[in-house]
Formats: sequence, C-alpha cells, structure tokens
Amino acid sequence: MRNPVPIIATLFLAALMLFLILRQPPAPIPPPEEKLPSVQSVLGEKPDWTQLQVFQHTITRADFETLLRDIFTTDSTWQEFITITDLSAEIRTSGDTAEPPFILYFAQPELTLPTPRHWQTTASLPARPVGKPLANLHIAIDPGHIGGEWAKIEARWFQIGGATPVTEGDMTLRVANLLKPLLEEIGAKVTLVREETEPVTPFRPENLAELAKNDATLTDPVSLQRFTEKLFYRTAEIRARANLVNDTIKPDLVLCLHFNADAWGDPASPTLVPNNHFHVLLNGGYTSDEVRLSDQRFEMLKKLLQRTHEEELVVAKTVAETFAKISGLPPFIYHPDAGNFRAIPESPYLYARNLLANRLYDCPVIFMEPYVMNSVPDYNRIQAGDYLGLRDVDGKFVPSIFQEYAKSLAQGLAEHYGEKIE
Ligand SMILES: [Zn+2]
Repeated sequence: MRNPVPIIATLFLAALMLFLILRQPPAPIPPPEEKLPSVQSVLGEKPDWTQLQVFQHTITRADFETLLRDIFTTDSTWQEFITITDLSAEIRTSGDTAEPPFILYFAQPELTLPTPRHWQTTASLPARPVGKPLANLHIAIDPGHIGGEWAKIEARWFQIGGATPVTEGDMTLRVANLLKPLLEEIGAKVTLVREETEPVTPFRPENLAELAKNDATLTDPVSLQRFTEKLFYRTAEIRARANLVNDTIKPDLVLCLHFNADAWGDPASPTLVPNNHFHVLLNGGYTSDEVRLSDQRFEMLKKLLQRTHEEELVVAKTVAETFAKISGLPPFIYHPDAGNFRAIPESPYLYARNLLANRLYDCPVIFMEPYVMNSVPDYNRIQAGDYLGLRDVDGKFVPSIFQEYAKSLAQGLAEHYGEKIE
C-alpha cells in the first residue's frame, strides 16, 4: 500500500491555494482612459511596407534628410523611428520594437535609380500646343465637404438672420463646376471627385456608432454623437474619396477646393470678422503624434519618396502668386504655437500640413484655402451669389466670388504649365 501522507499533504496544499485565490479581491478593471495609445489611425489600414521597395536607391541621403527635417516633420520625434546612416535609413514599421525595420537604401554616385511614379510631373509632360498648356494632364477636382442636407452635420453651415445660409460644401461644388470647363478649354482632362451634395462614402453616422464607442475617452452622449458624425463626414468620407482618386480616377494632380473661415461660434448667430486671407497647403508638417502612428509614418514616407513635394511646390507657388494678384487677398499667417504646420520659405502663401486628403491622395495635391466665409467682405460677396461681369458689392465693383475663384485658379495653372511652352 502507498504511503497516504504525500497525497493528504498535496490535497491540503491545493485546498489552501484555492482558499487564498478565492480570498483575493477581483483584479480591478482598468479605467477606459488607461487604454494603450493607438498605433494606427481610426479606419486606417495596416501599412504594407514592401510598397516602399520600389524606392530603393532613388533618393540621396541629403535629399531624404532635408525633406524629412524641413518639410515633412515639425520636431525631432522621427528620430525615435528612423535612423539615418550614409548608406540607408532604418525605419521602424510598427510600435513593436521586435518587428524587423524597413531598410531604405540611398542613391549613391554609382547607383541612382529613377523615382517610379504613376503621375506626370510638369517636366515629364510631352510638348503641348500653344493655347493648351494643360494638354495631356489629368486633373481631379475635389470639391471640399459635402454640403446640401449634410452641411449642418459637417459644421460647414451658418446663417445670419433670414439671409441665405453659407454652406461650404455647396460653394466648393459651384466653383468646381465653373473650373472644369475652364481647365478643359486649356487642354486638361478633368474629373470631379463628387458631382452632387451627397457623400461618396456608403457609410452613414449610424453605421459608425459602434466604432466611435471603442474610443473610450468619450463618455457623454453629446461628445460621442459628435465624434460619430466626424468619423462619417471626415474620416470615412475622405477615405472613400481617396479610394476613388487612387483606384479609379488616377489623376496627375488633385485640386482640393475649400473656402476658409475664422471661428464663427454659434452657427445661428455667427461672428463676422473684419478681414479675409488666403493660403495654399502642401503635404507635410507631420506632428509628433502623427509620426508615431505607423500608418501615417508610412504614408508620410511614401509621399516623401514619390517626391510629390517638389511638384506641389512648383505648381502651388505660381498658383498662389497668380491667385493673390487677381484676388488681392493677403496671406494667412499661422499662429507660431499651432505646431502642426511648416511655413514654406518660397512663398508667404504656402504652408505644409498633414491633412487626411493631401496625405491619402496618391499624387501631388494642391489644397486651396482662399477667402474667409465669415469675413465682412467675403460674406457680402457670397450673399451676392454667382453672376457674370462686375457688380457693386459694398461700394466696390467686383466679380462674383465663385467666378473669381475658378478663373484665378485656372489662370495660375495656365501660367505654371505654360511657362516652358514655345
Ligand atoms: Zn473646408
């Protein structure tokens, strides 16, 4: 017969352990705000870093470093993720340090490969006939926002008394419809990213409520509702437009049309400001938080390596100068503490910022921000509506703000692409 003592001792120990475990208070559930920081943007896709393989040996260390430091980032956070040597840049691909980095090899005097891209630079366009400086160029016009019945939800709506409401999404579409034939006349092929005041995304706020709830920092129903709506009109909508631009339209250049505004407060009793201004945005100026997100870091590097900045700069500079000359608008000045932009030294009208549209559209993007909808001069011109010729608005004979927008932009593009013709 076996000795029963070890069995009894084992049973006793097991009972004791069970007793001690059951006596433990339950592990506290971590409060929602202690969630780990996200490593990817909401609705963002896991980046496929192998897409960057085509850029091996296409950029010198000097160009890579200059673009990264001076245009694409706003501080030195990138150094936590990118290590540069003379031969290569070692890039962290995720928040997990155990994941292998992506190694980008720089161009060397004995090995420099051309930058692969599916869009045409100004320099690569074939010769154009006189009067058709935009021949062979495919331009997508993206009228910013949605407008129509969505204008209130997307917070692009205000109304003074019984006057016509100001809705940015309707105004950008109106400009787009005026601009399209002007660009076609000078040779461009033009596609509108949207032609109606309806969303491009099939999602509606109600489809995104569950996703919004996952963002546990939001607790009260009003904030949650606002966040859900923003996921719809900004995130889902712009991602849907990006898919359309990248997979179907495949243009050489995208023009994002917007009207700027200063904070207007209550949309039913908005504040009017005295002055207007104008600026054009290029992609860049990624903040520390954005550089830390693996999908945005990937998209930033893809932009940098495609060399969209060089093309955006040359196009936007002439566009901005021409637009400013015709409209007489002064440059917008960012608050130096904003921390989410880079001023572009070539022009006081140019800034680099990381916006969803100019990051996701896979080609150069000219992002227009002229006029201030709630400034006294522009508000009165918007109320005057669209018309041909000049009209007296507040004692000044001016063209319709919509005609001026479309004509100045078309003129700027004609001047840029026409520079080297003949
Ligand atoms: Zn806008």
